[in-house]
Amino acid sequence: MEIIDSHTHWGPSVTMGMEVTTAELLRQAEQSGVGRIVIFPFPSQALADEGINEQVLEEANRDHRFIPYYYIPDDLRPIPKEKEFYGGKWHWTRGVQDCSSNYQVLEDPGLSGFIEASEEIDLPIIFEEELAFTETFVRMTKTLKVIIPHLGLLGGNPMDFLEAFKRRENCYFDTALAGQETILRFVKEIGPERILFASDIPFGTMKNELNKVLSLPIGDAEKELILSKNVKRLIGLD
Ligand SMILES: [Zn+2]
Repeated sequence: MEIIDSHTHWGPSVTMGMEVTTAELLRQAEQSGVGRIVIFPFPSQALADEGINEQVLEEANRDHRFIPYYYIPDDLRPIPKEKEFYGGKWHWTRGVQDCSSNYQVLEDPGLSGFIEASEEIDLPIIFEEELAFTETFVRMTKTLKVIIPHLGLLGGNPMDFLEAFKRRENCYFDTALAGQETILRFVKEIGPERILFASDIPFGTMKNELNKVLSLPIGDAEKELILSKNVKRLIGLD
């Protein structure tokens, strides 16, 4: 069964003073039986130097086990169509990272254009903000594929996220850093089709995060959706 890690960070982090190397990601992948890995920059790095998006793309061109996502800059430029990105990462835009959303962004006159362009490009966006911010954003689109990381853990209570988005077929969730009980609860409530396995390296390890999914009391076909089929369907990968 193929396994794809849907959320890892690659490259240097200015704020953390460390770097996640290609060798480290591949070491963890080999140790865990992961075949392909979604990579994108650390937020602090992308804000300091947006050339990192280009480096992520080049790294993925060198090693086809990598699936590059584009870090969406603060001025809300959509994923560039002409480049081979497979998705985007939206991270606490102009707010306090991992902590509080900047609600003025929702009033930005450029936001509707960003959403329109993103709908047309039709690639998923890993979208991390507080619950209320996420709800307003999701109400602005019916078709944009929004992946909420950590089952919503960093933006509020996962159960509130579940309640808010369970009927939104365009909303997906990744499992990184979430508890196994919570993952199971999500699978039972919305089915396995909208849940993606992810590690969020370096904040989690592939092995630990993968074990949570592998040991879920569900069937192999359901696990396969979570481990690779869902993300492949979303990004149009064979
Ligand atoms: Zn992350």
